[in-house]
Amino acid sequence: MIYREIGKTGKKASIIGLGCEHLDGKPYAQVQSTIDAALANGINIFDIFMPGKEVREHIAQALGTRRKDIMIQGHIGSTNIGQQYDISRDLPVVQRFFEEHLRICGGYIDFGMLFFIDSEDDYKNVFESGIADYALKLKEKGDIGHIGFSSHNPLMAIKAVNTNLPEIMLFSINPAFDIIPTEESIFTHLDNGFNADSFVGIEPKRAELYRLCEQKNVGITVMKALGAGKLISPEHSPFGKPLTVAQCIHYALSRPAVASVLPGSKTPEEVRDIVQYLTLSDAEKDYTGILSAVRGGLHGSCFYCSHCQPCPSQIDIATVHKYLDIAKLDTAQIPPSIRAHYQNLTHRGSACTECKSCENRCPFGVPVIENMQKAELLLGY
Ligand code: SF4
Ligand code: SF4
Repeated sequence: MIYREIGKTGKKASIIGLGCEHLDGKPYAQVQSTIDAALANGINIFDIFMPGKEVREHIAQALGTRRKDIMIQGHIGSTNIGQQYDISRDLPVVQRFFEEHLRICGGYIDFGMLFFIDSEDDYKNVFESGIADYALKLKEKGDIGHIGFSSHNPLMAIKAVNTNLPEIMLFSINPAFDIIPTEESIFTHLDNGFNADSFVGIEPKRAELYRLCEQKNVGITVMKALGAGKLISPEHSPFGKPLTVAQCIHYALSRPAVASVLPGSKTPEEVRDIVQYLTLSDAEKDYTGILSAVRGGLHGSCFYCSHCQPCPSQIDIATVHKYLDIAKLDTAQIPPSIRAHYQNLTHRGSACTECKSCENRCPFGVPVIENMQKAELLLGY
């Protein structure tokens, strides 16, 4: 395993970590064998955002005295209603869930992550409320080692980093989320193809965020490095053909300030497949070939570039597509977190009035209206 500094925290993370979401609902024996495999392979950072008591207890039990050998990202504001994942900004509820997590983890969580800072409301309700103060108190008391946050939105992430409160950020990074041709370069990209040299198509705000993190020494840990499986799927890859797991990991690890990539694994075999990355040659990890052949795969595929905005109904079209694309991977088993995220949007696909202005602006021929209806159908209930 290779270890990298996590920003200014003074801690070092294995470059491959464990996202624990897919352990939710699994039998204890499976949780234990997956965790055993992670530790045996040198993984020392886990993300546990799930609010369920059972999965938290399973993980703690599987770790046992090895709790001290790993670092945990625990999320402040991740709660549930019934068995559904939810986000709360209600301080007593937030405290109840986080303090339960603390207790289960032996009274200490390495990184207290302010959960899901994706909108202005999220930002205000966390950073300008008692929740940020709560995180500070947790740190002062020594219940958490460092304050962090999670986000999928570069604009909000920039605001959060600029508060100078967080030392670590969990952010969704992969080539599909990152390639955002600017207005000037869209057609250049289409005409010339996405060759490695032109792969400056990282959306400027994302590039700014990565730079800011590096500048402020805020370590980044990565979620959704495989686009929830979309990028490694022959059918769903937006690049015409699938990337390998190693190429996705390598891409994320190549971004500035990134310390660790935390793919979700639910079996020992999946853990071992992912850590194979460490044994591969540079040529086997290189992703530029696939990205340079991208032209044929573009049409009809959403690149989350928001070139179609503004929407008169204020739908965040790119975000709806991100959730829809993940849901379409396996409509029989849509991750509860994706459904919850979609339902938390202020303006969902159901608000679409079919005005067509987005479709006229989209450079990739995405059938937005049809997709808004699909999103509502798959994720709205
Ligand atoms: S619908 Fe088109 S313009 Fe809008 S985010 Fe997707 S690819 Fe970009
Ligand atoms: S067609 Fe629907 S999604 Fe597109 S801009 Fe109009 S209201 Fe928004």
